[in-house]
Amino acid sequence: MDMPTIQHIRAFTLRGAGADYHDQGSGHWIDDHIWTPMAKYPEYRQSRQSFGINVLGTLLVEVEASDGTVGFAVTTGGELGCWIVEKHLARFVEGQKVTDIEKIWDQMYNATLYYGRKGIVLNTISGVDLALWDLLAKVRGEPVHALLGGPVRDELQFYMTGARPDLAKAQGFIGGKLPLHHGPAEGPEGMRKNLELLAAMRRQCGDDFWLMYDCWMGLDLDYATRLATTAYNEFGLKWIEEALPPDDYWGYADLRRKVPPGLLVTTGEHEATRWGFRLLLEMGCCDILQPDVGWCGGLTELLKISALADAHGKLVVPHGSSVYSYHFVITRHNSPFAEFLNMSPGADQVVPMFHPQLLDEPVPVNGRLKASALDKPGFGVRLNPDLALHRPHTH
Ligand SMILES: [Mg+2]
Repeated sequence: MDMPTIQHIRAFTLRGAGADYHDQGSGHWIDDHIWTPMAKYPEYRQSRQSFGINVLGTLLVEVEASDGTVGFAVTTGGELGCWIVEKHLARFVEGQKVTDIEKIWDQMYNATLYYGRKGIVLNTISGVDLALWDLLAKVRGEPVHALLGGPVRDELQFYMTGARPDLAKAQGFIGGKLPLHHGPAEGPEGMRKNLELLAAMRRQCGDDFWLMYDCWMGLDLDYATRLATTAYNEFGLKWIEEALPPDDYWGYADLRRKVPPGLLVTTGEHEATRWGFRLLLEMGCCDILQPDVGWCGGLTELLKISALADAHGKLVVPHGSSVYSYHFVITRHNSPFAEFLNMSPGADQVVPMFHPQLLDEPVPVNGRLKASALDKPGFGVRLNPDLALHRPHTH
């Protein structure tokens, strides 16, 4: 087969909800007094947008092949990501065969080592990588999951993240993950409120429904240990997520030793590359890895992280990221369920996560999604043609 080459790569930014899913209007559950590492400052406590959680905006990467096929992906990265794509990474992409994904990844990563390794650079590499997988799968006329070895089960099952686990249960999800609203700087009263909310949700959801707390990096070891222990012993918390700052590998290892057996410690949403996850695995930091495929290095890197986790007997349940993770999860034995991040303002409707940026984005029905819903070529989504795209740089 004569493989097309990649002729053009273009990077755009756009504002508002979508891949930068924190860029929501006021009154949204995702920005309602959620505890963060910045919440120790009272002036940044009520809203995460107040400290700039939505400053980046969406990065859209488009790659066009010599046969006219266009692949694309969205992630968080905005104008900074556009600059990295257009001024630096484009040289490793244009002129290469559409099958050269592994080589392109290696060149993008090694060429940016002196200023990259994590954060915005890896977000950007992830965006390019996902666009390349979308392009290759479209050139082949197959869904991305077929390129990964095909589905290992007939359907995905989901837990829901949002403020309403009670509705998640009614809608057929296997669990509900709450954002944590109070942390160490709010003392015993905040701790009491955290436990009261969990208790109320346990009463509404019954004994068997999974309930989890997402702590968005905001706690310290002592607070996290006390919260997790009481939450598990009294209210059956299933896991405590991202309790500590992501660089505190030692703290995570301590936390995992200190919490009651049976309670799962999870993290990895803000970790990147096989080397970052190797640290989490070898230091015994957690029970479930939660890489975001749009941030950790893309699908090419997620496959390596997943294989490493499998050899350590650990599950990989990617953070959010909709179709970009669904095509991966359905092909992995050690990814038995997926996250559905509820982006409706009250967490009461099942809406596509990347709305309004993507069209044809599938959503769970009764908490599940048939593998056949992922059978369109590429990642199976279209870019909404009504979007106001901005291309701040060219090359
Ligand atoms: Mg999280």
